[in-house]
Amino acid sequence: MTDLLTPAEARERICELCRLFWQLGWASGTGGGISLRVGDTIFMAPSGVEKERLQPSDIFELDRRGRIKKAAPGKRLTACAPLFQAAYDHRDAGAVLHSHSLDVVLASMIVPAGEPLRLTRLEMMKGLEGVGYFDVHEIPVIDNTALEHELKDRVERAVLEFPRANAVIVRNHGMYVWGRDSAHAKTQAECLDYLCRAVVRMHAAGIDHVKNDRSEPGADATDAACAA
Ligand SMILES: [Zn+2]
Repeated sequence: MTDLLTPAEARERICELCRLFWQLGWASGTGGGISLRVGDTIFMAPSGVEKERLQPSDIFELDRRGRIKKAAPGKRLTACAPLFQAAYDHRDAGAVLHSHSLDVVLASMIVPAGEPLRLTRLEMMKGLEGVGYFDVHEIPVIDNTALEHELKDRVERAVLEFPRANAVIVRNHGMYVWGRDSAHAKTQAECLDYLCRAVVRMHAAGIDHVKNDRSEPGADATDAACAA
C-alpha cells in the first residue's frame, strides 16, 4: 500500500513533513530527508536545502528503481536516495524518512559495537509495526561513514538481516525509518524517537534499558490472561 495522492499532493505532503521534521529538530541544518511512493513513482526532497522552506517544485520524481524521472531545477538529488531505495526494494515501503534526531544519535552511542538497539517493556513499543510490550525488539545499529551514500551496503545488509525492524539506526548520525505510507512512516519515526529518548534518560538515571522491569513476578502471565 502507498499514499493515494496526486503528484501535486505528494509534493505538498513532502514539504509538510519537511517542515514538521525541521520543527522537531530532526532535519535542521539541511540534514535529514523525506521520500514517499505513490504507485511506482517515488517523490523525494532534494539535498542541501533548508527543509522548512521547501517548495513543491523542489521535489524530485524517481521511478520504482530509483532512476530520476523529473529533476527539480537547480537542485541536487539527495545522497539518501540509494539508502531509501533499500527499504523500497526489500520491504515494499510506501515512504522512507531520514531523521537526525539527537535522541536517536545519543541512543546509538549507548549501544555496544556490533549489537542492535534492544527495546523491551516500554508501552510505546506497541506503536511499532508488529511489536508487543513483552517483546525484545531489535533495531540494527550500523556505523557511520564519511559520506552518506557510502552507507548503502551497510543499510541494505541491516534491512535484510533484521526483517522485523522497520528502521536502521546509523551510529552518531540518525536513522532511516519506513512504513506502508507517509503517515505510517511518520508515526514509526515518532515512536522510535520517543523510545530512543527513553533509553537515553534511563541510561542517565542508571537504569539498564534491557532489564528495566520491576513488575511483580508473573506480571507477564497476568497480562497475557487479560489480553486473552
Ligand atoms: Zn543523514
